[in-house]
Amino acid sequence: MTAGCPSAPAPVLRERGQHEVFCGLTSIIWLHRKMQDAFFLVVGSRTCAHLLQSAAGVMIFAEPRFGTAILEESDLAGMADAQDEIDREVARLLSRRSDIRQLFLVGSCPSEVIKLDLAKAAERLDEKFAPQVRVLNFSGSGIETTFTEGEDACLAALAPRLPASDKRQLLVLGALPDVVEDQMRGLLAEIGIPEVAVLPARRAGDDPAIGPHTRFALAQPFLGDTKAALERRGARHIAAPFPFGEEGTTAWLTAVAAEFGIPAERVEAVTAAPRARARKAVAAAREMLDGKSIFFFPDSQLEVPLARFLARECGMRPVEVGTPYLHRGILGPDLELLGDGPRLSEGQDVERQLDRLRADRPELTVCGLGLANPLEAEGLATKWAIELVFTPVHFYEQAGDLAGLFARPLRRRALLTPEAAA
Ligand code: SF4
Repeated sequence: MTAGCPSAPAPVLRERGQHEVFCGLTSIIWLHRKMQDAFFLVVGSRTCAHLLQSAAGVMIFAEPRFGTAILEESDLAGMADAQDEIDREVARLLSRRSDIRQLFLVGSCPSEVIKLDLAKAAERLDEKFAPQVRVLNFSGSGIETTFTEGEDACLAALAPRLPASDKRQLLVLGALPDVVEDQMRGLLAEIGIPEVAVLPARRAGDDPAIGPHTRFALAQPFLGDTKAALERRGARHIAAPFPFGEEGTTAWLTAVAAEFGIPAERVEAVTAAPRARARKAVAAAREMLDGKSIFFFPDSQLEVPLARFLARECGMRPVEVGTPYLHRGILGPDLELLGDGPRLSEGQDVERQLDRLRADRPELTVCGLGLANPLEAEGLATKWAIELVFTPVHFYEQAGDLAGLFARPLRRRALLTPEAAA
């Protein structure tokens, strides 16, 4: 155990052992929905293809915007052949699909893929297909990424390619469902910030321009590399708690507003009605959550802001908050609000963490799919971390749904074991 920095709320348990999380390819599922003219070509194995298909569910659309170029050992008799094969695959795809404006070559784990220079392939293809199609690469490999880091790798690859601008402007970073993004734009416009750039944009042509007068706020806490890439372009980060729940959303909006010289009173006046709606919606779930203990395994990197929301707005008692990376430059304001109560852990040694879980016997455990079933069999209520990134959970209008996601498994368990609810 090592002590954190002086302002740290509590010592942090740092673990580097076996971990059980999905890989970054999972991010493609929400990225392809958001980036409507992008195609994600995974260069990988059959396992990667299966993961994508099962994570996406049954693909009901005829022309999906992601696919897998499967490389087998035999394809790699010579690396030149593999590069030619990628070129052929991409040429075939782009000749068929004139709607594609940006193509991402996505790396994966198999050793044969690791040996391939995908950056070189992307560069070559980018030149060949410019300006109609932009070709970039990033890694979604499970060796390098957890499931939300795929988005970070994708956006960090985009950041150096964004046009330059000297304009003073707000940029919001992180893929939000369109309906949530529109709500956010509405709130910011009412506060007095009518022009908001977002990354990722819905289409390549709407890419934000970046420069020293860009101020950016994160909508997702797992974008550390993208944050660094934007800072290298001179943009400045607005530190704030994440917009989960009434308090988090108000604090986020207030921090953004302050950066643009807009007083907190204006934010309060504009948000009075949605705040009241959020409070009311959260109160409905709070009945089930109040006083209940919760344990987070490290999965989505959303753990710290969610624990803050559940503790402060829903009355829950976080006992351990595990997160893959504890990025204080990003999570500082949430850590401060979370306070000294819960044990913080960074990274994972799954066996040791399971021992602590069994000693704590929390009323709710947030974990990956692989752990959920065995823990349910041990009589513990679980919540799948992955649902938290597939469900709209940001800002006021989703606060009730967010609390409801945690109330549901507790309600189900109470029905299964009525004595547990007593
Ligand atoms: S990238 Fe790696 S971890 Fe992810 S599905 Fe492919 S082989 Fe598995």
